Amino acid sequence: MCVLVLTFVMTFSTRPSTYRISLAPTGRARCRKCKQAIRKGGVRLEIGAFVRPGRYTLLMRCASCIDPAMAKAILNVYTSASRVPAEPSVDPASAARVRDRITTCSKRVVGAHSHVTQSVTLSVTLVV
Ligand SMILES: [Zn+2]
Repeated sequence: MCVLVLTFVMTFSTRPSTYRISLAPTGRARCRKCKQAIRKGGVRLEIGAFVRPGRYTLLMRCASCIDPAMAKAILNVYTSASRVPAEPSVDPASAARVRDRITTCSKRVVGAHSHVTQSVTLSVTLVV
């Protein structure tokens, strides 16, 4: 018997995340940044984060935790904060406040660059 271990390294471009302004349907979700529960009915930002091709995970962030790095990432996708989608249940004034925050934050300087590619190593063990 011999055991072959084959390792493949796949490199692919990271898909941009998607963003949406929504209202918390329950008080259970926690903000990814400050770890505080987002109160029921509170305005939040949903982040559809790319994991690997075909796989996204939904993350939440409270509106007050939008920081410059995030604002820039949002504008990379939507160009202008006014194009960030909002759920119909979010009142226009709240959505406008979140978009204003995105615009304001994006004007601050960000040091770190996000990675545009990532590698996944797949190991396959064949028993012959
Ligand atoms: Zn927060």
